[in-house]
Amino acid sequence: MIETSVGSFSPERRMLIDGKLVEAASGKLFDNINPATEEVLGSVADAGHEDMEQAIASARRAFDETDWSTDHAFRRRCLEQLQEALESEREQMRAELVAEVGTPVRVTRGAQLDLPLEDAFRWPAEQIDQFAWERQLADGNAFGVASKRKVVKEPQGVVGAVLPWNFPFEVAANKLGPILATGNTVVVKPAPDTPWSATRLGRLIAEHTDIPAGVVNIVPSSDHLVGEDLTLDPRVDLISFTGSTVTGKRIMEKGAATLKRVFLELGGKSAMIVCEDADLAAVLPAAGGVCTHAGQGCAMLTRVLLPRSRYAEGAEILKSVMENIRYGDPTDPNNVQGPQVSAKQRDRVLSYVKKGIDEGATLAVGGGRPTHLDKGYFVEPTLFLDVDNSMTIAQEEIFGPVLAVIPYDDEEDAVRIANDSSYGLSGAVHSASAERAMAIARRIRTGSISVNGGMWYGADGPYGGYKSSGVGRQNGVEGFETYLETKLVGYIG
Ligand code: NAD
Repeated sequence: MIETSVGSFSPERRMLIDGKLVEAASGKLFDNINPATEEVLGSVADAGHEDMEQAIASARRAFDETDWSTDHAFRRRCLEQLQEALESEREQMRAELVAEVGTPVRVTRGAQLDLPLEDAFRWPAEQIDQFAWERQLADGNAFGVASKRKVVKEPQGVVGAVLPWNFPFEVAANKLGPILATGNTVVVKPAPDTPWSATRLGRLIAEHTDIPAGVVNIVPSSDHLVGEDLTLDPRVDLISFTGSTVTGKRIMEKGAATLKRVFLELGGKSAMIVCEDADLAAVLPAAGGVCTHAGQGCAMLTRVLLPRSRYAEGAEILKSVMENIRYGDPTDPNNVQGPQVSAKQRDRVLSYVKKGIDEGATLAVGGGRPTHLDKGYFVEPTLFLDVDNSMTIAQEEIFGPVLAVIPYDDEEDAVRIANDSSYGLSGAVHSASAERAMAIARRIRTGSISVNGGMWYGADGPYGGYKSSGVGRQNGVEGFETYLETKLVGYIG
């Protein structure tokens, strides 16, 4: 049991393969580090290629040889058992996420834990009864054969689910809910920085649900290439990946040899457009959201677009917002920003800050490591003013508490700048006129957008990216379809 100031938890060190909680075949372990203290929290099984081979074989067997893929009522019951089991360990999960992810406990009250726990399994479980698994087409007479016709939805088969470290439970839940509800089997590969939230899921599945052996396998590894086996193996039908665009492209490339289906949820460089008529004092505090969880979120609004006519006024407000961000110890309930997940990520963020300065942006707040925190991978809340959209800090995903403020001339210019990005994940528009804000939102090429502060998140909301932000959708009916194949049947009788 690990005791922390926000609760205690017992981590699970073993992986789940073929229904059993096991150590790695090699007996190897790797460390799990607390990013706020740099201390080793404990360890976890370090899977090698042979463990991954076992996991893929067992997922394939469970799909091909059990009635998991066809028994709707049983699947629904299993998802309800899993929901109940997760809720019974909610407070342990909260303390564990704060420790291994470095996420502020405050963020676990929202997207990191409580929000996905609310409906990420419940909504797909309900869909099992509501979804149109079959639909009848008009009778046909092709080739002179009078036929009845229908469309049947079937699971894809074996899914390889590759998780990131920034929202490890949220992403796992939003993958597993629909993957299991639609009758697939799955091998989950958590990110090496955050293995315990996934191994806990494995233990709960093994000990508290009737989910058959092999339907879910959880395989942590310190070696990214063990995860790559999923993309190369012909027994895996689909890869569901959340993470960086670079890795997403590699998965597509490696998966091409076996024509893998892919769902990719990748990076973003989302813009918040503030119209000339907006109430800046009311609207701009939301821009401090870029520091939530140290900016480690794909849909963060990392570019703020301000009209030149009100630029000086907006810049002053934003300075004050960024200077007053509560950050530091993630167990402090007042903090919204904790550390970056690793020294590597911290250094990556700092290298972007340097690029911003080198390319001529004005560093107005932060930009370094906080002097009052001598341990942990922290970066100060950072504000860049006078950013040109062609600069690296306006084009690349920094994944840190770094806000870039870009002036624009008129509405056309704002839309042009917002869309001048290889990414297309999310965005926001603020105007005194709801109609005007909605009209601008329709012109932004992103998979989600907030209008005047509205929230789009939910298990029923199809989420994903345009352009380099991804392929396909998770959640909602579209997300359900991601994990389904379509069979067209012509029949007589
Ligand atoms: P990453 O995309 O490389 O890692 C994410 C997951 O992919 C991990 O589980 C990792 O083990 C796995 N992985 C890596 N290479 C793989 C391969 N060849 N085949 C199969 N799986 C593989 O991300 P990272 O290196 O941890 O972080 C780098 C940057 O990625 C961040 O700074 C951030 O910009 C971005 N990122 C984005 C998100 C997001 O939600 N969009 C999440 C995490 C990271």
